[in-house]
Amino acid sequence: MSRLPVRSNKRVLMSSSSSETGQDLAPAPKRIREDPEPVVPHAAATIIGGRWPPVAATRAPISRPVRGVGAATVAAGPSRGVLKRSIASTAAKGGSVKQTVAPTGAKPGVVGGTKRQAWDLKGKVSDMEGKIQNYQTKLKASNQENETLRVTMVQSQSRVAELETNIAKQMSQNSEYEAELQALSRVRDELETVSSDKSTLEKELSNLESKYRVMETLRDSQETELQTLKMTLSVQESTLARLQVTLRDTEEEACSLKDTVVQQKDELHAGEMERRGLHNTIQELKGNIRVFCRVRPVVEGGLSQHIQLAASDNKTITLAKTEESHTGKTADTHKNYNFSFDRVFGPQSSQQEVFDEISLLVQSALDGYNVCCFAYGQTGSGKTYTMEGDEFDVSRGVIPRAVTQIFRASEKLEAQGWEFTFTASFVEIYNESLRDLLYSGKASMRPEHEIRKSPNNTVTITNLSYERVCNEDQVLGLIMLANQNRSTAQTTQNDRSSRSHSVFQLDIEGVNFVRDLKCKSTLCLVDLAGSERMLKSQCQGERFKEMTAINGSLSNLGIVITALANKESFVPYRNSKLTYLLQGCLGGNSKTLMFVNISPESDSFGETMNSLRFASKVNGCVIGTASANKK
Ligand code: ADP
Ligand code: MG
Repeated sequence: MSRLPVRSNKRVLMSSSSSETGQDLAPAPKRIREDPEPVVPHAAATIIGGRWPPVAATRAPISRPVRGVGAATVAAGPSRGVLKRSIASTAAKGGSVKQTVAPTGAKPGVVGGTKRQAWDLKGKVSDMEGKIQNYQTKLKASNQENETLRVTMVQSQSRVAELETNIAKQMSQNSEYEAELQALSRVRDELETVSSDKSTLEKELSNLESKYRVMETLRDSQETELQTLKMTLSVQESTLARLQVTLRDTEEEACSLKDTVVQQKDELHAGEMERRGLHNTIQELKGNIRVFCRVRPVVEGGLSQHIQLAASDNKTITLAKTEESHTGKTADTHKNYNFSFDRVFGPQSSQQEVFDEISLLVQSALDGYNVCCFAYGQTGSGKTYTMEGDEFDVSRGVIPRAVTQIFRASEKLEAQGWEFTFTASFVEIYNESLRDLLYSGKASMRPEHEIRKSPNNTVTITNLSYERVCNEDQVLGLIMLANQNRSTAQTTQNDRSSRSHSVFQLDIEGVNFVRDLKCKSTLCLVDLAGSERMLKSQCQGERFKEMTAINGSLSNLGIVITALANKESFVPYRNSKLTYLLQGCLGGNSKTLMFVNISPESDSFGETMNSLRFASKVNGCVIGTASANKK
């Protein structure tokens, strides 16, 4: 705004205040022009802005030189430059000036620098007349000057009016300019906004350009990839066409193969049935009750003195006894007792060799025949070792190996449409009472057990744990649990395990839905109580009771087997818990294997003899031909 040309409308009087505006507006320091003749300035003047001095100058009605009058107003500005002198002269003439100065510099009443004498009245009068004349002249001049000033004032007033109009115009123009300026500043703001927008947009543009370039590169690479894929696709399409042809051929082939498979399955089934039949025939030919003798190694190493095993075959065992002559006159008599069994295992025989011989019977169990395997012998002869063995792989006994075989064989049979379920139980018979060896509850809550026989001759025990098993590890876990249960009992009743029978039973149920076949059998593996006899005088109380129970059950086992062998109408199964429990697995419908375990030490001679005799009696039995439990 301040830069815009604005005309000042201020009117400044020169008389007293030298205004700043006046100075600002003055274009240049005043120059006083020396006029050749004294000019009396106008009595009054208005100082006009320095830009228009010519106006004041031209308009001042200086028609003739006027002698200065005693006007109060003094003309200023570049007005002819005679100010100082005119003031001096005017002051001298004007009667209203306080310090009156004589025109000649002489005081009134003084002639020629000297004061008139009091008596010189004439002189004084002439002086007074002069003075009057002088004043009249001055008055005249003043009047004239007044007139001039009035004219000038009128002119000045019109000039002022003109200037005011100009100023008003300028002001309105100013406000227009201001409005314009505001508009322009708005425009400038807008311009700034637009320019910042522009820079943002430029940045965006450059971003987009770089993105575009990246996209272009990407597009190029994808195009290349697309080309490659198209090529691959065409290759694969041709491959597919070829494969479709092959597929059709293969499908046809598969169809014919399916027919073949069905045919072969039938054949396989027929083969399986035939195998079962033949297998059973072999088992029957071998005898449905078989006895294996196993001699334990001597604990301290070396060979047994009185036991001889035939080198030629592995079926005989000889007990040699030297009897000293009572009289001492005759020589000592040597007596040999020969026994033959289905198989005799010497001290070196491994667990695997033993099991190989009975694995055929285990197969029979899976084929649907009941199988029962006992270990008979005096305490320490190796019954538990034979049946259970220990945890090492090589020394695992019959039970874990039988279980492994059964699970493996059942998996193969499943391919032929068979489905099997296995249920395991482990029971101890001590003093003719039953104890669940798989019981895991509180000892105080142990239930009572009873043997129950259903009308279809299946035997079950009340409150017994029957555990569903589907792999070997589960069975091994159950054996461990049984051993724990046994050892708990053992701490309270010294060496109880040797005076109790433990019976492991695995119930096998097989279903072949395709052929609508079912089979059901039980594999019984029994670790019998020690068969050693005691003299009645040597045991009393609890021991006597135990001995009676063991003797009773073991001899009843012999009686039952004999009765079965003789096809007697009455078989006394119920005479002992053991035979009652095992009746399903003994007799015509089953296969029975008895291990007779022998201790090789010479002090066990008597017991060894008893065991071999008992086993021979069992071995002599021929139990009726077994038939599978097929439905
Ligand atoms: P039992 O159960 O008849 O009382 P064990 O099976 O407990 O007898 O056997 C008594 C000891 O003899 C055990 O330490 C067992 O490991 C060992 N034993 C038994 N038979 C054999 C064998 N064939 N080979 C090696 N050690 C055996
Ligand atoms: Mg034992």
